[in-house]
Amino acid sequence: MGQVQTVLGEIPSSDLGFVLPHEHVFHDVYELTMNSHMILSDVGVARKELTYLKDKGGDTIVDQTVHGLNGNPQALAEISADVGINIIAGTGFYWEKFHPLWLADMSEKQIIDLLVSDLTRGFEGTDVKAGMIGEIGTNHRGISAAEERVIRACAAAQREVGVVVSTHALFTRIGMAQAQAFADAGANLDKLVIGHVDTTPDVDYHEELVNFGVWIAYDSIGQLDKQSDEHRADAIVELIARGHRDRLLLSADIGKRGALESYGGKGYAVVITDFLPLLRERGVSETDIDALTKDNPQRLYS
Ligand SMILES: [Zn+2]
Repeated sequence: MGQVQTVLGEIPSSDLGFVLPHEHVFHDVYELTMNSHMILSDVGVARKELTYLKDKGGDTIVDQTVHGLNGNPQALAEISADVGINIIAGTGFYWEKFHPLWLADMSEKQIIDLLVSDLTRGFEGTDVKAGMIGEIGTNHRGISAAEERVIRACAAAQREVGVVVSTHALFTRIGMAQAQAFADAGANLDKLVIGHVDTTPDVDYHEELVNFGVWIAYDSIGQLDKQSDEHRADAIVELIARGHRDRLLLSADIGKRGALESYGGKGYAVVITDFLPLLRERGVSETDIDALTKDNPQRLYS
């Protein structure tokens, strides 16, 4: 059985339980977005929100907050210990608009070394280690040279450490270009997740990705400005019918204050409280639901 690096150390992947594989516990991108919803920085609020998630059946959450988005690995470790929930922290870089200014001055080798150091020695100034690479961003209309350089570095770090890589592929079929770029860079596609594919409601595109050899994440659940959850549920029924259940992940990519229960939203547990009932209404079995929410992430991280 494989071991997974959480913010509190390694655990067997069989202990992950119910997993939300793409979320944000901490980030602060107010300066770039001028949107006050884009500040998740209050440690007390985060502790409460993860307690709500645990009370509703969540066991593990993956915080895909990368360099430049102002995460807080030390607080993740403290909250994980307090609340008794597993947290896997991501490292990497988001799309170019959000690259930290210092990235341009780094060589590709230095980027690889930074990622490997985060994964094997810990984030700078802490002994908290990243357990995956993501979310790795590209623009939704194309992959810039700076983004492609990051993809090459991530593929190299993945080869060295053997971890999961997850991407940000909003609104278009950019996920195919991302999968191809990772393949060209020598990444292990069996540990590559193309994220946010549910913001491009096209099951044929999702099937094409699975056939290419990667995982797909319906990880924008509850974000109704992108599409309705009813449409997401219908598409999942279709993907299961086409035989792709075992390459599919579910999450909510909570990243806005208004999505948290503390500010009136539904919180991280929206997948459990609001979305799984839509799958059950459509006849999806408990075995299939366990596959999507427990067995698949456990296999991905093993
Ligand atoms: Zn995200």
